Amino acid sequence: MNHVPYRIYLNEQEIPRQWYNLRADMKEHHAPYINPATMKPAELEDLLPVFSREVCLQEMDTEHRFIDIPEEIMEYYKMYRPSPLCRAYNLEKELNTPARIYYKFEGNNTSGSHKLNTAVAQAYYAKQQGMKRLTTETGAGQWGTALAMACAHFDLELTVYMVKISYEQKPYRKAVIETFGADIIPSPSTTTEIGRKMLADDPNGGGSLGTAISEAIELSVKSEDCRYTLGSVLNHVLLHQSVIGLESKLAMEKIGEYPDIVIGCAGGGSNMGGLMSVFMGDKLNGTRNPYFIAVEPASCPTLTRGRYAYDFCDTGRITPLAPMYTLGCDFRPSAIHAGGLRYHGMSPTLSKLYHDGYLNEARAVGQKSVFEAATLFSRCETILPAPESSHAIRAAIDEAIKCRETGEAKTILFGLSGTGYFDMSAYMQYQNDEMVDYTPTDEELARSLAALPVIPGVQETV
Ligand SMILES: *Cc1c(COP(=O)(O)O)cnc(C)c1O
Repeated sequence: MNHVPYRIYLNEQEIPRQWYNLRADMKEHHAPYINPATMKPAELEDLLPVFSREVCLQEMDTEHRFIDIPEEIMEYYKMYRPSPLCRAYNLEKELNTPARIYYKFEGNNTSGSHKLNTAVAQAYYAKQQGMKRLTTETGAGQWGTALAMACAHFDLELTVYMVKISYEQKPYRKAVIETFGADIIPSPSTTTEIGRKMLADDPNGGGSLGTAISEAIELSVKSEDCRYTLGSVLNHVLLHQSVIGLESKLAMEKIGEYPDIVIGCAGGGSNMGGLMSVFMGDKLNGTRNPYFIAVEPASCPTLTRGRYAYDFCDTGRITPLAPMYTLGCDFRPSAIHAGGLRYHGMSPTLSKLYHDGYLNEARAVGQKSVFEAATLFSRCETILPAPESSHAIRAAIDEAIKCRETGEAKTILFGLSGTGYFDMSAYMQYQNDEMVDYTPTDEELARSLAALPVIPGVQETV
């Protein structure tokens, strides 16, 4: 093979002009969302008061394989895309592995993560519909930052509910979000009914993504010119993130490569879903057979120890019920540092693919081994990775070590979803040997799973 450069860049003309809708290639679809008020499958009309119209249509779309990216969104993408595909030569050398390791780096924009890919799309569609304001929640702050940037561009107001523990751990996130002109409120807060209830139950609670979602939705449904946005989990988010996979495949084609293994960290499943999109399409169509690994924290083991069932997407139990792997919407993950991975549920599409065996493997890893991998990676590759992304690094390193042992020269592709500059307190904890691993007991999981909603006529497992 000719020499492969360290960074394989595409040019501006090669940014995909259409998103890839993986669901059009799935022979079976996930069961429908259920409206908790009627216990009937959710219709478009049920979603319209919450999300902007175009986004609702995309959410339901199982037919159109490719969906045009509007010109305004293309123009925005050009400010920071295509993102580089990198060959991890130095990491390979350090590991003394015959494997070829590639990573797609999505932290090259100011928001620091892949979340901008969908933030700009969601802000654009809300603006098109005449909305004045958006609401959302943010866990570690990446989504709030990305959406604040997108709202500034399209001149929309934004209220962000940030999980309180992250709000306190990451004061700079607040400053960035406010710089872009958004309001940010620590959750649980006194501004909503569910927030006040959570505070009454546990005044010192650190909050959770589930509660912050409830607060943001509550605010949005109260006003006509306001819509809610979600930065992960849902089908339209995975659709927008397909640019990651489309660019990766094109860049790999240019150097005559195709991944044997595709690895992503999975919180709600959007960066993994986006990275694997076209490769999974190849698998579904029988043209290729890459091996997919989703990596999650041992402290929030949704795929590896959760149940495949209907559950609410939020703690306040106001969202539609989604068929997904879940730990139960009452599950309170411990305060690990990969805030973006502290979510009780998982993308229904990813869940379905995992359940049916197309997404081959889910792996849970402890945060100390994750920071060990992050530290090694940063020294080799000169990028300081986000704790979330470092879960994927951990698995990529482990797969490369396996290759060293078997002598197989596999091609590994992983998603480096973001940078970790706002996570330095976590790196400091790791360096000072103060970091602890936390794994929930079976009893703990059983308790939150016991509270899963019961749907008449639907078996416990989807
Ligand atoms: C939010 C986030 C994640 C987790 O979300 P997914 O929807 O599972 O991708 C992973 N990495 C980074 C950098 C994030 O900001």
